[in-house]
Amino acid sequence: MKQLANFIDLEKLSTQGYQWQGEFQLSQFPRLAELLSQKATAKTTFTCEINKVSGIYWLEFSVKAPLENQCQRCLQAMDFLLDEQIKLALLEDKSQASVLQEDDWLLLDDVVERVKHERRLPILTMIEDELLLALPLVPKHDYNDKNCVPVEILADEEEEPIVEKNNPFAVLAELKEK
Ligand SMILES: [Zn+2]
Repeated sequence: MKQLANFIDLEKLSTQGYQWQGEFQLSQFPRLAELLSQKATAKTTFTCEINKVSGIYWLEFSVKAPLENQCQRCLQAMDFLLDEQIKLALLEDKSQASVLQEDDWLLLDDVVERVKHERRLPILTMIEDELLLALPLVPKHDYNDKNCVPVEILADEEEEPIVEKNNPFAVLAELKEK
């Protein structure tokens, strides 16, 4: 199975479009991988489609992937389902926005990378940007989760003085008394 393309030439897109589907590999998204981790056995789905309709490119993708996030209260791993469906209009010109409904859009000029005569759409980066925006800002376990102990409390417990049972000076004092 071919991996999702990093870049797609816009010229090719306008005539052929682009469709891809396969497994979601967190390793393809380095910024996401810093925040989340992937479960080796979990089933994922990932589809991506780009089409040009009436002069507007549409990027649509959907991701469903059981991952792990880090709870910001206890700093333990917590299950996290990345489940997003995103549709984005890519415009040549701002004036095209007037025909859109509530749709999200981006200007092609802001995202394409020019290489000689090609205009390349960095789709992996664009998808990663959208997924990063969709993540919870402060992921936390459910409030009733008994295993979710705030790290501040743990830290306090660690700071309590440790009672030394075999204090060498205590042993010396005992010897002296004898
Ligand atoms: Zn927690």
